[in-house]
Amino acid sequence: MLAHFEECFTWFNDEDIRMPRVALVTGGTRGIGASIACALEEAGYRVAANYAGNIDAADAFRDRTGIPVFQWDVSRHEACAAGIGQVEAVLGPIDILVNNAGIVRDSMLHRMNKEQWDAVVRTNLDSLFNMCRPLIEGMRARRFGRIINISSINGQKGQVGQTNYAAAKAAELGFTRALALESARFGITVNAICPGYTSTEMLAAVSPDVMEKAILPQIPVGRLGQPEDIARAVVFLAAEEAGFITGSTLSINGGQHMC
Ligand code: NDP
Repeated sequence: MLAHFEECFTWFNDEDIRMPRVALVTGGTRGIGASIACALEEAGYRVAANYAGNIDAADAFRDRTGIPVFQWDVSRHEACAAGIGQVEAVLGPIDILVNNAGIVRDSMLHRMNKEQWDAVVRTNLDSLFNMCRPLIEGMRARRFGRIINISSINGQKGQVGQTNYAAAKAAELGFTRALALESARFGITVNAICPGYTSTEMLAAVSPDVMEKAILPQIPVGRLGQPEDIARAVVFLAAEEAGFITGSTLSINGGQHMC
């Protein structure tokens, strides 16, 4: 236990006081992100959770976990820089960034409007630039960083009604590999996780009939993912000992990527 706790410490200042590393999870107050934030905190990190605007969910999460919450829209460039500044003022330099915030606005392309396209691309993809750009210089200077991008099986396989989402999630994988190459010599790893269908509010729009007849039969293990299935992998990739894993895409989908 002690050895595990020491894994996530950083040298904090000239007096050699070691402080736990700081992790920021975007979209960290609900669903997969909330589970990631809790798992990182349990592993000994100091954690901040960002959210978009659902204050009730954020308050409930903060009251339940004690993890501080910070509101900003990850699709807005200036808001991300300001939000990162607020987190670092409270917790110190961010060493671990989990780009988890994401939305869907499903529609067949022949009915999709520009707002649906823009909202999904800005929230799922532009957010990676908006969040990584202000943080990467500090990570390079400190010679340590862990960036974990939550993509999707639908970015790997495509999905009907999701040209916007599949395009943004596939682009996340290219971003991951390019930044991994740029950052490898600086002790920074950049990896992606592609969850399969995972039990969160994001799946609320899927009817029970579609779930039963169309989705579950495609999943070899025969069940939906749980947020904890994804969170465990994030803790693994965030560890000091994961420094040789970079530019990887981890498929966590009950075997669905093989079907
Ligand atoms: P949820 O809808 O359950 O939660 C989304 C979280 O992201 C919320 O905390 C929400 O904040 C936040 N968020 C949304 N938009 C923004 C924004 N513009 N700025 C800041 N925060 C934002 O999603 P999931 O937990 O299901 O999904 C998490 C990630 O996993 C997403 O990237 C998703 O694409 C991916 N994924 C999910 C799968 C699934 O089956 N659930 C499958 C594959 C990938 P607020 O509460 O304020 O709205």
